Amino acid sequence: MSSPLLAEATRIAREFDYPAAQVQRGVAEYIRQSNEGLAQENTTLSQIPTFVTAVPNGTEKGLYLAVDLGGTNFRVCSVQLHGDTTFSLTQSKIMIPRELMASGTSKDLFTFLARQIEAFLRIHHNEHFEAHKRRRREGKGEEELFDLGFTFSFPVRQNGINSGTLIRWTKGFNIPDAVGHDVCALLQSAIDDLDLPVRVAALVNDTVGTLMARSYTSPGETGTLLGAIFGTGTNGAYVEKIENISKLQHMKDAHFDTTTGEMIINAEWGSFDNQLSVLPNTVYDRDLDADSNNPGIQMFEKRVSGMFLGEILRRTLLALHKNPDVGIFKSASKASLSSDALLYRQWGLDTSLLSAVEADKSPDMIDIKTALKDHLNIENASNEDCEAVKILTHAIGKRAARLSAVAIAAVLIHTGKLQTDDIVDVGVDGSVVEFYPNFEDHLRTALREITEVGLAGEKKVRIGISKDGSGVGAALIALVASKDQTLRNPRE
Ligand code: ADP
Ligand code: MG
Repeated sequence: MSSPLLAEATRIAREFDYPAAQVQRGVAEYIRQSNEGLAQENTTLSQIPTFVTAVPNGTEKGLYLAVDLGGTNFRVCSVQLHGDTTFSLTQSKIMIPRELMASGTSKDLFTFLARQIEAFLRIHHNEHFEAHKRRRREGKGEEELFDLGFTFSFPVRQNGINSGTLIRWTKGFNIPDAVGHDVCALLQSAIDDLDLPVRVAALVNDTVGTLMARSYTSPGETGTLLGAIFGTGTNGAYVEKIENISKLQHMKDAHFDTTTGEMIINAEWGSFDNQLSVLPNTVYDRDLDADSNNPGIQMFEKRVSGMFLGEILRRTLLALHKNPDVGIFKSASKASLSSDALLYRQWGLDTSLLSAVEADKSPDMIDIKTALKDHLNIENASNEDCEAVKILTHAIGKRAARLSAVAIAAVLIHTGKLQTDDIVDVGVDGSVVEFYPNFEDHLRTALREITEVGLAGEKKVRIGISKDGSGVGAALIALVASKDQTLRNPRE
């Protein structure tokens, strides 16, 4: 016999159901919005041309730098491409201080980033770094600069391979004075202020990097079609026919290599269906959005990615806790649920808790109890509490995975890639797809339910984690940019 708590948890969980018919509708609408984005500016799906017109084949060589401003961390790495589909990578990872994300100026942020690059060079490439300083001091010799790929995982309007203006911040960043500015120029100027031997050669979206890296490391006859991120945010980049990108005709200054007939498109699918014509919309989604710093935008992302899944769960748990007929965590100590408890705090619950809950197979759900203690400071949760948390977690995670299938299926169908017998390669990256138990299984189940994909289509899809993809991918794009002068737009 189900208790009032479990009955209510189950009722709320059902609001997160996302059945096959809705998935199918979502796919149709995604394809419609993606075509709209290829034809016009200012559409809900941005479909941004990246000016990268080829994916690598694994023979590329050289030493490159890459940095990645992701959303939670800043990564600095150097990548040695061996030219045989393998590479060596050295990296450091730094948490971005919260105050730099939202209250400082762009100069504060970019100076912080340049300092991390300097520290990295001193530790890992000190010889080169010192030699450069010496040459500068003595005023002789050719400058030897590292070409750097700058992975910047926010929407930018790209004007060429190494310049792009920030359209808007997402994922909790909010530094108004950077919007509308060229982020490569901002980074280069912070680098020059520190006199580092580094040239920002390419602006790379992490999703494009994921696609490039996957294509370098797994160069079958068919290159990788799609790179997709499910981390702090979510986004996808895929290979499109240039003839389909009709809005390129209106970009007078754009110039790029047309020989492949293809170009990578950065979909910016986090903002798929901002108008909510097909996306599911529970009261928890509505409240999360209303309380966010960018209401009405990134609506797909707010239902799918790591930054938000924990917050959705928190809101459902809070609803249970506040409901006098139900209650949850009744056995928890007063201290753990005092007025400033994490459960009451916006962003108080990290998405990694959902993974821990979903992974639980322990007797008496001891792992869930530990996770609740570690994440929310809630002690003495009862078995029933844990069961309720589990029901809601499962519903929220499963909906996210099925929504992810909508975007992936739409790309597969739109590009016609399921029409042949070949395997279709998809590279993925991000903590959610990497660590959330059964994320790929739920995603694949939804793919099979889509008429145009079906069992046969789903079998052709090879999904592989593109580990450290943004680092290697950025290095690969820096390589392309440094080699091919025609791809270089002069800086204004
Ligand atoms: P970034 O987006 O900065 O590249 P990640 O791919 O690591 O970084 O994603 C970080 C996001 O993933 C955060 O929102 C975090 O809450 C979430 N996350 C971290 N660990 C896990 C996990 N084990 N399971 C699910 N989500 C996680
Ligand atoms: Mg990332």
